[in-house]
Amino acid sequence: MLPAPHSADSAGPSRADVPQKLDLTAQIARDLIRFDTTNYGEGRSNGETDAAEYIAEKLRALGLAPELFDSEPGRTSVVARVKGKDSLRPALVVHGHLDVVPADAANWSVDPFAGVIKDGLLWGRGAVDMKNMDAMILASLQDVISAQGAPERDLVIAFFADEEAGGVLGSHFLVNEHPHLFDGATEAISEVGGYSITLGGKRAYLLQTGEKALIWVKLVARGEAGHGSRMHPNNAITRLAEAVAALGRHEWPIRLTDTTEQLLGEIARILDVDPQRVGPDELALATGTASGFIQASLRTTANPTGLTAGYKHNVIPDTAEALIDIRSLPGEEDLVLAQIQEIVGSDIEIVTMHRDIGLETEFSGPLIDAVVSTLERHDPGAPVLPYLLSAGTDNKALSTLGIKGYGFAPLRLPADLDFPAMFHGVDERVPLDALVFGRQVLTDLFSNY
Ligand SMILES: [Zn+2]
Repeated sequence: MLPAPHSADSAGPSRADVPQKLDLTAQIARDLIRFDTTNYGEGRSNGETDAAEYIAEKLRALGLAPELFDSEPGRTSVVARVKGKDSLRPALVVHGHLDVVPADAANWSVDPFAGVIKDGLLWGRGAVDMKNMDAMILASLQDVISAQGAPERDLVIAFFADEEAGGVLGSHFLVNEHPHLFDGATEAISEVGGYSITLGGKRAYLLQTGEKALIWVKLVARGEAGHGSRMHPNNAITRLAEAVAALGRHEWPIRLTDTTEQLLGEIARILDVDPQRVGPDELALATGTASGFIQASLRTTANPTGLTAGYKHNVIPDTAEALIDIRSLPGEEDLVLAQIQEIVGSDIEIVTMHRDIGLETEFSGPLIDAVVSTLERHDPGAPVLPYLLSAGTDNKALSTLGIKGYGFAPLRLPADLDFPAMFHGVDERVPLDALVFGRQVLTDLFSNY
C-alpha cells in the first residue's frame, strides 16, 4: 500500500517529496510538523492555534463536532467526542499534544519544520514527540468511521496545547475548566509507549503504565554583593556552584516499584537469566536503545538544567540561581525534596516552580488485554512489557478526574533506530511504515475495545 522510498536509490532531496503516494498518516503528520508549534516554556510559545484548526477541520470532515478552547490567546486545544456503538461502556480518552520543544536548525541535517520525507522516514520536530501519534489517531479514526460507522465505545479525542511546559495551558486547563468534556471516561491512551524495542535479538513492545513525578525547582544561594577585586568568602556564586555540584553528582539508590519489578522480571525471563543474579541496571541495559528511559525509572533523578547569576565582570552579585529538573518515583516527592535540602545545605533556598504527581497503574485489566491481543494480531509473538516512564505526559492531568492513563502509540520499529533518543533530540524521524502500522493497530483497537 505504501511505496516507501528505498535507501538503495537515495537520490537526495530532489525526490524527497512524494505527497501523492504517502499514506494518510504520513500526510497528516507532515502537515502538522510544518506548523511550528514550538513551546519555549515559561509562557513563551509560538502557539498551537493553526495546528488546532487544521485538526478541527479534519474532525469536521469525519462528521464530528470538535470544540476549540483557548486558555490564552494562541494556546488552543481541540476536543471531540465520538459516539460509540455501545454507550454503556466507559469512554476511552485518546489524546495527543500539539506543541513541540524548540529545535536548533543548525544541529539538524534537515529543516526541522519542513516535514522532509527521506530514506523511507518522515523527518522533523514532532515526528516522534508527538505529531506522529496525532496523525495516527486521526487516520485510524477515519478508518473506523468509514468502515463501520462508529468505534465500539465512546472516544474522547483530545489534542492539547502546552504539554511540553507541564500542560498548565492545555490538559490542566481543560481538566479544571471543562471537566465535563471527559464525562464517563475511565481510561486514556497517549504517547511514549507502544513502540518496539529489541531485546535479546527479539522484538518486544513497551507499554507505559506509569510515570514518575515531576518537580521543577530553583535553587537560590544568597551572599553579599561587592567589588570583584576584594576578599569575599560569602560569594553566592561559589556557594551555588557547590550545591549544584553536590546535587548533580549525587547517586540516587535504586528502588523498584511494582511496574519496574515486573518489567525487570519479564526482561530476565526473555533473556533467560536469573533476576537475583543480574542487577537491575544490567537488565535495563539489555533493552538497548530504551535503557536510557528504563534506567532512569529505577531511581530518582535530579539534573541541573540552568544557571543564572551576575551582571558585571567586576561585581559580585548577591544571589545566584540554578534550575533543577527532579523526577521522583510516584509518591516520593516530599521525601526527595527533604533529601535534596540535605544535599544542598540548609542555607540554599529551594523554590518549587512546577510540580506534578507520579502515576502507576497495574498491568492488567480489559484495556491491557485488548492492547496485548491487538499487538499480537499485528506482530505475532512479540511480548508486551509494562514500563514506568521517567518523564511525564498529559495523563497526569487526566488522572485528577480518575482516568487511568497509558502510553500506547504503537510503532513497529527497525532494531537499528534509536527511537527513544529522538524525543527532544536532533534529527527526529519516524519510519513511514511504522506510521502505517500504528494506524492499523489503533483502528483495530478502536473497532474492538
Ligand atoms: Zn510528548
